[in-house]
Amino acid sequence: MTYQISGKTKIACLIGWPVSHSFSPAMHNAAFQDANLDYVYICFPVKPERIPEAISGFRALDICGANVTIPHKEAVVPFLDEVSDEARKIGAVNTILNHEGSLAGFNTDVYGYSKSLELHDFDMIGVHAVIIGAGGVARAIAIGHAMTNAASITITDTAAGKAGALVSNLRELYPSLEVRDASRDPGLLIKSLVRADIVINATPLGMKETDPLFLDSNQMECISPSAAIFDAIYNVKETKLEKTCRARHIKYVGGLDMLLYQGVRAFEIWTEQTPNIPLMKKVLQEKLGTC
Ligand code: NAP
Repeated sequence: MTYQISGKTKIACLIGWPVSHSFSPAMHNAAFQDANLDYVYICFPVKPERIPEAISGFRALDICGANVTIPHKEAVVPFLDEVSDEARKIGAVNTILNHEGSLAGFNTDVYGYSKSLELHDFDMIGVHAVIIGAGGVARAIAIGHAMTNAASITITDTAAGKAGALVSNLRELYPSLEVRDASRDPGLLIKSLVRADIVINATPLGMKETDPLFLDSNQMECISPSAAIFDAIYNVKETKLEKTCRARHIKYVGGLDMLLYQGVRAFEIWTEQTPNIPLMKKVLQEKLGTC
């Protein structure tokens, strides 16, 4: 692809450590070109200790917008001029808009998640949700459900204390929300799975062909056929979990659309235009080898 870089070309970027694996440049540059926007998207590997300088650099160099990835999503927050309500609740920013030197932080993962469910005709309002895994993606998903008046959220994690910390944080933010840590309580997990409207795989399980399912077969059996399963995994054409859901006639929502729509929202924030979404999806699928 050839870019016509001009004296007016605006720069959007990704900061992370590392960043060389990212598909965002391909996805955003294709969308910028398609929309005839004089923008270019590039990756900057930024070491954790250099975050303050990197953020000052956005202002100094008039970088128009940025994405932020692991491990900087939390670290950038104190250096921004304002942070959206969602991003503040999640405690992590994945998108920055530079408006005349004033930096606003957003988290577009909740939008990506909600949009992917909407596309599969799943209504998030008032549902019982079970989230397996309590890392970064689980946090955004949990806030998404809390913001749409979840009836309950149950969270488990193998890492000691991680689900407990997320549960405590959700209780502080949403005192009337029924939210529980089932990490050390298999009975509670089973009961929660039985009544769940949606069960979320927010673990890395499924990225490799040899991975086991995120739940054992007894736990899987507890999930109602009327429930949906959301799988954060996006790099596999057809996961073992997807095949299992198909065999049990359970609605399966894969992670690709969440990834796509968090990018779509970032594009809209930077440009105030709607990108060519099918093109962005095609580029992602080509890059992932999941076409
Ligand atoms: P993370 O911060 O490492 O969190 C994953 C958590 O799951 C860890 O705390 C891990 O614990 C826990 N875990 C692993 N196996 C488990 C099990 N069997 N039961 C319960 N908990 C378990 O990772 P992340 O950033 O949240 O990402 C999770 C997955 O989502 C990754 O595969 C990532 O590629 C994907 N993702 C998708 C999108 C999207 O847009 N679709 C966006 C971001 C991430 P341990 O540390 O003890 O292993």
